[in-house]
Amino acid sequence: MRVKIDMDGVLADLTTEWLKNYYSVSGESIDPELITDWDIYSFVKYPDKLKRVLHSRELFERLDPIEDAPTSVHTLCNRGWDVVIVSDAQGDEGIMGGKLAWLKAHMPFIDVSKQVVFTANKNLVQADVIIDDGPFLHNATEKYKVVYDQPHNRGDAYGVYPRAYSWRGVLTRLSVIGMVDAMETGLTPYDAPIRDISVNEDLYGTYYSYKMSN
Ligand SMILES: [Mg+2]
Repeated sequence: MRVKIDMDGVLADLTTEWLKNYYSVSGESIDPELITDWDIYSFVKYPDKLKRVLHSRELFERLDPIEDAPTSVHTLCNRGWDVVIVSDAQGDEGIMGGKLAWLKAHMPFIDVSKQVVFTANKNLVQADVIIDDGPFLHNATEKYKVVYDQPHNRGDAYGVYPRAYSWRGVLTRLSVIGMVDAMETGLTPYDAPIRDISVNEDLYGTYYSYKMSN
């Protein structure tokens, strides 16, 4: 199965770094937990300064990985998932360069010539599952959607999607999706890594009730 994974807010911690850089040029300190909407410009006093911060190759190259993201994606690749990284680089050469450098540094097992697409139209790449933290989810055509928890996506509009609070949670959800899909297609699930991830009672309850009713 193909899984389409977003970068900012899912693999790379953009929020922490832009807040730090924005503070250094504006003196304005913002609590990340208070950024409760996708339009981050509406939370700052100096949008022009933020724009300069956000259009920097160095910013995207410097981001810390989200905890456990690189090892988890590596795990998915090893389990046979067809991993594609799809990210909006806003058509900006600097941002694309920074993101490519970041992927090469933190996820060298990803073939950037085959597994990475930069586009704002994420439906150009079709997958079985999408993992994202942003409004792309609303129009995504994937059968399975997982929202990666961030303060800006805790509103009602995202309540309809299964939510992952960590990469451990993502792996758990993908395991269940792999099993459900195998039941529906009649194919043997290749992703059955239950023993090495945390047991999520709700998810396994869902799985077993699904299994019993079919
Ligand atoms: Mg994102």
